[in-house]
Amino acid sequence: MTATPAIEGWFTTGAQPALVGTGCTTCATVFFPRAEGFCRNPACAGEEFEDVELSRHGVIWSYTDAQYQPPPPYIPRTDPYEPFALAAVELPEGLVVLGQVADGYGVHDLRVGGEAELVVETLYTDADGDHTIWRWKPVTEMGAEADQ
Ligand SMILES: [Zn+2]
Repeated sequence: MTATPAIEGWFTTGAQPALVGTGCTTCATVFFPRAEGFCRNPACAGEEFEDVELSRHGVIWSYTDAQYQPPPPYIPRTDPYEPFALAAVELPEGLVVLGQVADGYGVHDLRVGGEAELVVETLYTDADGDHTIWRWKPVTEMGAEADQ
């Protein structure tokens, strides 16, 4: 069985996975999902981008219980749909990235201002193997100590 990203090019895999955004070579603004063609900074005329791996840790900005199926690219893992927690995490780059909360965690593990770490987990499995997606794992008090 192999593990491949469910969305190609949006994140790296391995022990230290990271989201992959793009940085404008003109104004250095970082975008996720990746910007192509022209810079989304209205004050910038840049058209060239380079891949940038985003920080693996951020601060929980908001979270919600997803009672309804979100729009693509959030591929439902179960049919019928099962609610899960979503977190919006602000990265040091100034981006807020929405993601599902890691397996085994729910809204009761989340608090605004708390730390979250990027993990990559299996979204679904088919004949081609595991298909993975990024998720936000809340960093607990114990986890925070283990990091130091
Ligand atoms: Zn720019």
